[in-house]
Order: sequence, then C-alpha cells, then structure tokens
Amino acid sequence: MIADFFLFLDKYFWIDELGVLNVLTFLLSVYVHEHGHYFMAKKLGLKPTRPIIIPFVGAYVSIEQSENNLDIFKVAIAGPVLGTIFGLLCFYVNLLTNNNFIYQLALFSLLINLANLIPLPFLDGGKITKALGIQAIHIIIAGVMFTVAIIYKSYSLAIIGILWLVMYIFIKYQAKNYAPIHRKTAFIGTGLYLILILLLVVHSYLLI
Ligand SMILES: [Zn+2]
Repeated sequence: MIADFFLFLDKYFWIDELGVLNVLTFLLSVYVHEHGHYFMAKKLGLKPTRPIIIPFVGAYVSIEQSENNLDIFKVAIAGPVLGTIFGLLCFYVNLLTNNNFIYQLALFSLLINLANLIPLPFLDGGKITKALGIQAIHIIIAGVMFTVAIIYKSYSLAIIGILWLVMYIFIKYQAKNYAPIHRKTAFIGTGLYLILILLLVVHSYLLI
C-alpha cells in the first residue's frame, strides 16, 4: 500500500510527461485553498501572514490563535469553501473546454479540499468538527469502519477503526475547550461541512 502511494506520487509528479503541469496545478490548488483561510482570518482581525508556497509541500498561512470557537470554525472552513468553489468552477470550465490544465486544476482542487475535510486533528476537518462540538462524528466513522471490516473480514481496517477511537478519546479529553458555539449556528455549520463533503465527493467521482 505504501509502495502504491509512492508509485502514485511518481506517476503524477515526476515520471509522467505532464509532471511539471501537475506540480503547478497542485500548488495552485493549495494556494487558492490557503487564501480562503487568509481572507477570513484577516476579516476577523487575526493578523494572518500572506500564504507562502513551500515547494513540494504546499502552502502555509500563519494565523493568530483565536479562543472563540466560532472564529476557529470560520477560519478553518473558509479554506475548503474557497477551494471547493474554485474546484467546481474548474470542473464546469473543463466540461466546456476539455483542457488538460483545467482538468488537473479541477482534480487537485476537489481532492485536496476533500482530503482536508477529513476530521483528523491536524486537518481543517479536525478543527471544524472540534469547533462545532460534533466530535461524536468520530464514533460514527469508527462504527462504519468496524462494520465494513466485519463484512470484508479486513483486519487492517479494524485496526484503523481502533486507532480512530483512540484518537477520539484523546481529542475528547484534551485540555483546551473554549465556550461552545450556539446550537443553531453549530447546526448550520455542520450542514455546510456535510454539503461541502457531498459536493466534493460527487464531483470528484464524476471527474475521475
Ligand atoms: Zn486548510
């Protein structure tokens, strides 16, 4: 599986004759995504630095840590929101033009933003679910993993499910917990989070 991953990287970034194009579209997709965080943080007065591109890694914005869950949520989701809008735009422009550059841009934008919405602590999805107070989503994810693991008799998936639960316990008992977001706002925020995931999954599926 790890070897497959590196073969995938080779194919898309180096050996493929479109290698340079892929690196360029990958960085551009990340750059757009980071600008979502940047604009929102700036609007909220969190003194962000302008996104900088780190070659072969992606891009990064340094933002002052807020202690308000609503602000944390807004900054975390703004990246995927802008990235998704950009990805969908590229998706439909690609339908009209059938251009390789636009296709790659759509592909990376959709996949990068989808990956970022996975609720792992170091990703946007982790910050979003924590700020919204919907960490129970981890129990659902682990439950789905165990069910699939039993159906397909997959030990590796069962182990990932166990690790996921351990991570959930770790997050739940972490020291810092700011005042919760108002319930109605959290409900709308959760809706937005799930809609983004749905849009990205459907369009990625249609594109690939
Ligand atoms: Zn992000």
